[in-house]
Amino acid sequence: MDDLQHVDGARRPGRGEVLEVVDPATGRVVATGTAATAEDVADAVTSAAAAFRTWSRTTPAARSEVLARAAALLRERAEEFVAAESAQTGKPLRLAREFDVPGTVDNALFFAGAARHLEGRAAAEYDGDHTSYVRREPLGVVGSIAPWNYPLQMAGWKVLPAVAAGNTIVLKPAENTPLTTLLLAEVLTAAGLPDGVFNVVTGTGPVAGEALVGDPRVVMSSFTGSTPVGRRVMEIAARTGSRVHLELGGKAPFVVFDDADLEAAAQGAVAGSLINSGQDCTAATRAYVQRPLFDAFVARVAELMDGVRVGLPGDPATDLGPLIHHRHRDRVAAVVERAVAAGARVVAGGTVPAAGPGGEDLSAGAFYRPTLLVGAAQDSEVVQQEVFGPVLVALPFDTDDEGLDLANDTPYGLAASAWTRDVYRSLRASAELRAGCVWINDHIPIVSEMPHGGVGASGFGKDMSTYSFEEYTSVKHVMLDRTGTARKEWHRTVFR
Ligand code: NAD
Repeated sequence: MDDLQHVDGARRPGRGEVLEVVDPATGRVVATGTAATAEDVADAVTSAAAAFRTWSRTTPAARSEVLARAAALLRERAEEFVAAESAQTGKPLRLAREFDVPGTVDNALFFAGAARHLEGRAAAEYDGDHTSYVRREPLGVVGSIAPWNYPLQMAGWKVLPAVAAGNTIVLKPAENTPLTTLLLAEVLTAAGLPDGVFNVVTGTGPVAGEALVGDPRVVMSSFTGSTPVGRRVMEIAARTGSRVHLELGGKAPFVVFDDADLEAAAQGAVAGSLINSGQDCTAATRAYVQRPLFDAFVARVAELMDGVRVGLPGDPATDLGPLIHHRHRDRVAAVVERAVAAGARVVAGGTVPAAGPGGEDLSAGAFYRPTLLVGAAQDSEVVQQEVFGPVLVALPFDTDDEGLDLANDTPYGLAASAWTRDVYRSLRASAELRAGCVWINDHIPIVSEMPHGGVGASGFGKDMSTYSFEEYTSVKHVMLDRTGTARKEWHRTVFR
């Protein structure tokens, strides 16, 4: 049995049901342990609350040093993280090695720097009689909940700003992908993070997740996951009045204007829709292409998708791994089937592959081919709802107004891209696309320095960047009398 909890600086078992971590590429069980119960969560919160007293008073330099050391250790142990991330998610080693792990190293280095820039605004004498200044202070115990699609990166986005700002944290990874979050806790402990500052409770949403959000000692719930669960988190947080930060689902549009570089747009659409097998909240899901380019775009994307090799994560020839589990794969396949029944046409994929690039048997894994659909209606399920798989829908538009209106016509607002060589179109699209991030002539790249987070059904709050760092602090106004008098001028309004 593996210990899947990290509480007060050490691994331990949970007191709940048996959990299995399964490699979705092969069906192999890669770890077995026991889930956190509400009591385990309470223990973790107790440990985080005790650690807050000292951690919140450490100097920014001391916190920065721990994070910088953790970045170095993560780099040293990168291959261990790559193997664990790939084993629990099925993502190709290449993706974990070139995206997930370096992304988290860079986040740790960024927040090591940010820790030393925690500052309030300049002081001033606003009414003449007082000096005011602003302190930014850590909040206390943060409760975080992460999804399974990028387990390490999502854990990093939560833990690193929280501890850099002087908070302590209890994080619940998705119960099927805890391994790299536990490794991250190990690395942070080895880097000098005091026991209790970062705790991991591996358990299910309804048991461990709800216990964490509902604990009255948790002052902020930072959640990344689906929109319905995010709303549930908000409801529970309302009972204790804790702060919420919600990074929810997405349905990113990809708008191609008729002056765009067609080859760049087609290449971008394939990479932007298939990254992490499409299980990416910012993935391109709806390509709106201005009519003169539509047929050529569809033909080129289909051709490129047909060349994408679906296979086992460890095979260097593999481009695309499986989906997270069979249930999810079957859900994705069912959405495509319903779209076809409603009049859409499959131009690429739409099936389960039987063999990998070298002919290896893929039948035990949750694989699905890169899929391109045309002919779906704007108000249909596949266009409106998150599919979270390697499925792109292409739809034509005529005028620029129409393209932007269609792009904005879902409840989500996490990310969007526009493809054009016209500076005025790019300025208009960047202003009018309703999303937390708009790319021009690209789709997907993120950087530690810039905020990630959505609007509308995609939630609110930012991950990464100084915006996220500030969310893990509260603003305190300090006002000092500078007159030195017993009888202040304003006392007149109360007594003469
Ligand atoms: P999910 O909402 O099912 O689960 C996310 C986390 O919430 C898991 O840890 C789960 O155990 C927990 N959870 C489930 N029920 C809960 C409850 N009742 N109370 C508390 N916690 C509960 O999402 P998922 O399927 O793991 O992840 C995919 C979703 O995450 C997609 O919608 C995707 O768009 C979203 N996502 C968003 C971002 C972003 O930055 N906006 C990033 C990655 C993923």
